Amino acid sequence: MSDNSLISNDASRGDWTSASAAEYDSLCPGRHAAQRGLSEPASQAASFGNTVHEAFDTGEVDELTISQQRLLEIANEREEKVLARLHLSSKVPINEIRLWAQVGGWRHSGQCDRLFLDFTKQLAVVEDLKSLRGTVEESSSNLQLRDLAVLVWLNYPTIVEVAVFINQPMAGGTTSLTRYTAEHLKQAWATMRMRITNSNDPNAKRTPGKKQCKFCRAKGICEESIAWLESESLALKKREESVAELVARISPEKLADIYSKAPTINAILDSVKARLLTLDDEQLKAIGMRRRPGATRTTVNDQTELINRLVKLLGATPEQVMGAMNLGKGDLETLVRRLTGAKGLEVDLIIDRLYQGIVEKKQMADQLVVEI
Ligand code: SF4
Repeated sequence: MSDNSLISNDASRGDWTSASAAEYDSLCPGRHAAQRGLSEPASQAASFGNTVHEAFDTGEVDELTISQQRLLEIANEREEKVLARLHLSSKVPINEIRLWAQVGGWRHSGQCDRLFLDFTKQLAVVEDLKSLRGTVEESSSNLQLRDLAVLVWLNYPTIVEVAVFINQPMAGGTTSLTRYTAEHLKQAWATMRMRITNSNDPNAKRTPGKKQCKFCRAKGICEESIAWLESESLALKKREESVAELVARISPEKLADIYSKAPTINAILDSVKARLLTLDDEQLKAIGMRRRPGATRTTVNDQTELINRLVKLLGATPEQVMGAMNLGKGDLETLVRRLTGAKGLEVDLIIDRLYQGIVEKKQMADQLVVEI
């Protein structure tokens, strides 16, 4: 059978490969086959995300909590800003559309949270809503979005360019937009076909690793993954032991000498870190690292107003507010949880509302994370 694309009404990905697992499948070709028949555990975080996604799709917000409604408001504001940059002639979205492609005897699909089609400009825009916190991702290195761009291009032959972006209301900064021209899409389609073919090979190699195994449904029974985990923890233990053994053999004078060099060692590390942070995300990925955006430090400028809001909006008593001591972020989170019963992201969103207009936010420096 030849490779081609098709539009299907089939809204479920079934047992076929899908764009959402593109990165994991590219890292471990045997992953798709290994998971066949294994069910996915539901998580509370996923159900929070599903509720928000559903409202994003239908526009029905009545069932949402206040914090979920706020999250949607931010998502809609961000979408508006990104679309304004593209000057689309039509901003009417197609929500939650699953698109399909055929590769040999196999099918592959991907679901766009929102798809905008501008046939005048021959431009399509794919929007991916990330309602959870997690790592802030760049649209350019996101394989799921690259797959979705290809699927749109295959299914709408008059479209010659596809722009993609991630709408992550819980993340700060500007939303990055990646544009794929026909040339990029052709190349991406070739890579995608190869990956789908590999994933459907019953003898495909299983290649364990942190990223691909983390959410793999087979991780508890996959021999390769179990062996890899054992070797990783053994290596870590050995490293720790050998460092401890080495330090135990060093004389106190030498230890003092090493310790006195701490300022120089720290200066070297700071300068290494600064140099690494000048690399872009692709370059960091190639050397097994990633950037973690620095935390935001918040200073409340008007404590009295914050207390008023806690009392008025959440019904806190003066005793409860006093009990929260100096209303630092941790104390405030505990108090909000106690007053509202909210959890996780919902707490953050309620605090956002309490903080509106009375805080100063300072972005701390980005951090580096070693992935291997
Ligand atoms: S557990 Fe890891 S190695 Fe095994 S199939 Fe899944 S991703 Fe591949």
